[in-house]
Amino acid sequence: MAITGECFCGSIKYQIDGKLKDARSCHCSRCRKAFSSAASAYALVDPAEFTWLKGADLLSSYQSMPDFGFQFCSKCGSTLCGTHKGAPHGVTLGCINGDPDIEIGYHLYIGSKAKWEVLATGIKVFNEGPPPQN
Ligand SMILES: [Zn+2]
Ligand SMILES: [Zn+2]
Repeated sequence: MAITGECFCGSIKYQIDGKLKDARSCHCSRCRKAFSSAASAYALVDPAEFTWLKGADLLSSYQSMPDFGFQFCSKCGSTLCGTHKGAPHGVTLGCINGDPDIEIGYHLYIGSKAKWEVLATGIKVFNEGPPPQN
């Protein structure tokens, strides 16, 4: 069954005809601002499997680094997806509807987490950036 997600106000909705991959949470200062939260909660998508169902004209874009950015609802402010060269790169897990059948696999940059954040126990953490890919 396809995965769907939408923003807080419901004006924008998307569908993913495939699986989410590589769910992670990054606790760096940049992700805290970008996600307005203690950390990111993000998973990768195959751009070919991603479709905007409605409200795509309401999307605002922000480029945070060369080639990388975010898209969010211009009405309610929910951040819906990350982009790479303008195409969907991943989705914010908070905007997913229901159970996307994936769990956050690891937590990055806990070395720079907010002083006020209390980390859960039993999670897989890395002091800095992504673990080496094999
Ligand atoms: Zn919205
Ligand atoms: Zn980060």
